[in-house]
Amino acid sequence: MPNLTVAKFGGSSVADYAAMSRCADIVLSQPDIRVIVVSASSGVTNLLVDITQVSSVETRLLALQGIEDITFAVLDKLQHKEAVMPSIQALLQRLTTLVKQDNYKFSPAEKDEILSFGERLSSVLFSQVLLERNIAAYCFDVRQVMRTDSHFGKAEPDIKQIKTLCLEKLVPLLNHSVVVTQGFVGGNELLQTTTLGRGGSDYSAALLAEALTADVVQIWTDVVGIFTTDPRLTEQARCINELSFDEAAEMATFGARVIHPATLLPAIRQNIAVFVGSSREPNLGGTWIAKDVENRPAYRAIALRKSQTLITLKSPEMLHAAGFLTRVFDILSRHDISVDLVTTSEISVALTLDQGGMTTAFNCDIDLALSELEQFCDVSVERGLSLIAVIGNHLHSNEGVSGELFNTLERINMRLICHGASKHNLCFLVQDSEAVAVVKQLHNSLFAA
Ligand code: ADP
Ligand code: ASP
Ligand code: MG
Repeated sequence: MPNLTVAKFGGSSVADYAAMSRCADIVLSQPDIRVIVVSASSGVTNLLVDITQVSSVETRLLALQGIEDITFAVLDKLQHKEAVMPSIQALLQRLTTLVKQDNYKFSPAEKDEILSFGERLSSVLFSQVLLERNIAAYCFDVRQVMRTDSHFGKAEPDIKQIKTLCLEKLVPLLNHSVVVTQGFVGGNELLQTTTLGRGGSDYSAALLAEALTADVVQIWTDVVGIFTTDPRLTEQARCINELSFDEAAEMATFGARVIHPATLLPAIRQNIAVFVGSSREPNLGGTWIAKDVENRPAYRAIALRKSQTLITLKSPEMLHAAGFLTRVFDILSRHDISVDLVTTSEISVALTLDQGGMTTAFNCDIDLALSELEQFCDVSVERGLSLIAVIGNHLHSNEGVSGELFNTLERINMRLICHGASKHNLCFLVQDSEAVAVVKQLHNSLFAA
């Protein structure tokens, strides 16, 4: 079997015609890229989320106009737009029908169908861009193979089914075509459209790579790799050439948005190397993530996740009833809310929730969960907090953590700290308003050359 690379191009990489052309250059220069996963063009998924969240048709139509503008701007630059016009128009027509339902609250299934249009539009356009560069591209509907459960908003993939379906429906196409397909989107067994959660296209690429036993997954984005912290936060952030699976998974989990938290799971299962690079500057190299890496420094990176919610639950019941925590987590999981940090005392438990982030379904209802919790304990809610995680190796023991880190932390006004549960991270909460300054300060003391 010849080498196979699955390449994923993120939202900014397929934002417009010029960006798509740069991605086509990458595909042309690497014959191993035979499966391509695309995100929606930048901004489109946010507009689709707006459509699902407002009831005013007028406001929805404004969002739809924004999506059409982005789509037609690409279409107008194609040499043969007539080749894709019918597909694009069919997609926009169906979206318009959904948008125009006055005063209507969409069902979870309809919301996922709406969210899928970004990737469905960009994949049609990008396939045509490739065809016009003489690449035999075929636009493939991922719902034929990306089988998931019916957990709309954050569907769970069925790995076995995905493999079987890929072998049956996708592999034969690879003999004569480069397959272009949609990230983020899946389909349940009734063939209803599902989505994998915000930022899920990276995960889609890794799942397809696993099913196709690919050698490499490439994540092409707008930064030249994974940095010691988000390069938008400090100029001192440095690109990391090589990362282990565990370190990268930890970074992704704690908010380094550059890859979706679940992306590493299929890569680890199948030992597939993951590359992260910039589609704007592919010649600048990038980050390789693999099982074994030579260098495992004590401090690897700092991740920041803003707008976290801390809830503190207090009940004397907690002293005696072993079932208290079970009850709490049962309610949170029924509402699709995932918990990041947990600390407990005798009669209280504090939890952080990643509202609107990649680990929580975009349509979960936190207020409903809180009102259920209020029925058996005192609930206090603090919003506007940031979760900062220091990622590294052997951080679970005080020996691993240097005095430098504790000295810096001493000067920071922390709301809560978690240390010891994982050897790869130490994390804490600060006010959103202080978060960037804290990251800069920590970065300076841990990574200054
Ligand atoms: P895409 O649309 O390609 O999926 P994303 O916006 O999801 O791109 O992810 C890329 C962004 O991730 C970068 O622009 C950067 O601001 C952010 N980011 C956060 N942490 C890191 C990090 N440690 N290294 C690199 N980028 C990071
Ligand atoms: N388009 C989806 C989002 O914006 C998925 C992705 O880009 O990975 O969340
Ligand atoms: Mg992303």
